[in-house]
Amino acid sequence: MILGEDKSKFPSGNALFINLNEEKILIDTNPGISRISRFLRAEFDLSVSDITDIILSHTHLDHGRGLAAIFEQSNAKIHAHPDTLKRCEKKARVGLYAGIQKDQIHHFEAFGSSLGFQDRSYPSNRKVLLHDNDTIIYDEVSLFAHETNAHCLHMLDYEIKDGNLKIILSCDYDFTPVPWYGVPQRGLAVQSFKSAARELVNKNANYIVSSHRINPIPLKNQKEELNRYLHLIDKRTKKAIDLLPSNKPIKLKDVGDFVYPVAEMGEQYSEDYKICAQTWDYYLLLSHLEESWRLGKVKCIESDGDIFLERCIESNQYLTNEVNKLLVNGWAEKTLNEKMPFPLPINSLWKK
Ligand SMILES: [Zn+2]
Repeated sequence: MILGEDKSKFPSGNALFINLNEEKILIDTNPGISRISRFLRAEFDLSVSDITDIILSHTHLDHGRGLAAIFEQSNAKIHAHPDTLKRCEKKARVGLYAGIQKDQIHHFEAFGSSLGFQDRSYPSNRKVLLHDNDTIIYDEVSLFAHETNAHCLHMLDYEIKDGNLKIILSCDYDFTPVPWYGVPQRGLAVQSFKSAARELVNKNANYIVSSHRINPIPLKNQKEELNRYLHLIDKRTKKAIDLLPSNKPIKLKDVGDFVYPVAEMGEQYSEDYKICAQTWDYYLLLSHLEESWRLGKVKCIESDGDIFLERCIESNQYLTNEVNKLLVNGWAEKTLNEKMPFPLPINSLWKK
């Protein structure tokens, strides 16, 4: 495990290195080239140019930040979902995919550049497509790719088998105090994120390794960690309900800080980052308000032009079955073409 800076908290994160006789495999590039390079030298007397295979879980900024630099020094093959392979070439695609609004995308691009994420294209003969249920078999280990759509669409996590040892790289199902989801799956994300985390634990791996947690979780602790994690997500739903005043409706943008206390962020955070974090906080709040609506605790009474909320208001209930149809389908594709599938309804009106 190659740890990121700042205890691997976003926008930092961990990568995984597998040192085989022939192949030198790097899964995700979060820690950036200098940390990765120091790690390889210290642990294996190797350098970045020895890396033969880069495997990506998904393209969020924190996971792809070191990609261009590492690729240039190694000329490794890049294995990933076809969507990830296209997205990792351009920050604007990553930003729209992560819910940043089109008119604020320059803030996201500036934030991405500050992390070392570079726009560049990768030659097609260095790209290897990976899909759900694909297995990459090396001489000593095998890697099984498993797609989930709750943290983001088309994220692949990996089950690594070395003889009897099974390790899961669960990526952003990270068992830390700040689980992230909500775009574009919205209310559905809360439920599907919980079941995806449960599913990973049910695989009974010897260890679960994640992107933003320093310690691997051994099998004996996994159930307990899972319960803690699920409880935390449920607490967020409760918080979303509690934040709504009891006597009058309130606009999404007026509810206040939900998970990220943007107003209290110190000088170490750039303005560009703060603007992005604000959008993410709105999306997390929206997903939990929708989850609360699904549970019958709150409802939206004005949609701010959001097609999905409009439909739900019309039928006077949260339309769980329609989330996929209306929101998820086409989101990944549209953002790849640098279009914003739907704007964030910050003026939607909510009441208990
Ligand atoms: Zn992510």
